[in-house]
Amino acid sequence: MRDSSLAETVTRWYHEHARDLPWRATGVSAWGVLVSEVMLQQTQVSRVEPAWHQWMARWPTPTALAAAEPAEAIRAWGRLGYPRRALRLHACAQAIVERHDGSVPDRLEDLLALPGVGTYTARAVAAFAFRQRHPVVDTNVRRVVARVVDGTADSGPSTTAADLAAVEVLLPDEPEAAARASVAFMELGAVRCTARAPRCADCPLWTACAWRRAGAPALSRPSRRTQRYAGTDRQVRGLLLAVLREAPGPVPRSRLDAVWGDAAQRNRALAGLLEDGLACEVHGRYKLPSRPL
Ligand code: SF4
Repeated sequence: MRDSSLAETVTRWYHEHARDLPWRATGVSAWGVLVSEVMLQQTQVSRVEPAWHQWMARWPTPTALAAAEPAEAIRAWGRLGYPRRALRLHACAQAIVERHDGSVPDRLEDLLALPGVGTYTARAVAAFAFRQRHPVVDTNVRRVVARVVDGTADSGPSTTAADLAAVEVLLPDEPEAAARASVAFMELGAVRCTARAPRCADCPLWTACAWRRAGAPALSRPSRRTQRYAGTDRQVRGLLLAVLREAPGPVPRSRLDAVWGDAAQRNRALAGLLEDGLACEVHGRYKLPSRPL
């Protein structure tokens, strides 16, 4: 049964309390929304904001990015982390140029068919850029639904079909209202119903929330642990990639060897960069990838 009363409450709250984020401004292109969604997938808003402005100033359209070398996309990605996203965004821009004449498509099926665009991103772009009615389900939304509707502290393992269905029934019928509700649920999860310290006293769903009404029972399973970064292969990959990003041309192996003492870990990290297409080897020297000839 559809119940959009929660959506209406959250949307009203959103209009008064939402953060003023640049990709939410009136007139931002679908490309701007898509870029923001890819950047935000694994990086905090405060780090994404300046990177998004720089990216959009340099590549305001998919056509502009598609014309650039992949190496430039990786350089511009800087320290946002998980740099494969830069390559995926570049491949996505090329596909938009080839298949859609340079315009981000508005049909969900077309968005889903773009490289690097998954269930969440496709629906986010369809809802936020094209004002369509689609359930947009990220970690924050899953947590809000788990607490408000199911009365549990956190969502269980992600199951795409069930997650989409659980949010779909909460959305108003009218597309514009549904799009507003989608961003409002996300915002609530990001700034009020956070994983570790929900601000229930300031939450518009205070009276409706099943978990809060049940006395906020603790998780019956251990909460997710924060991933360690120091000393991981990810850190070593980041250090190696920083050398390649900052070098004007190919670098000798010795430059890479200097950044990390553990040879086995360094070799593993470099092999990963080569395999992911984030680096390439030319006559025993290493550099960021170029466009295939
Ligand atoms: S009342 Fe608390 S737990 Fe429930 S949705 Fe609001 S912030 Fe989350």
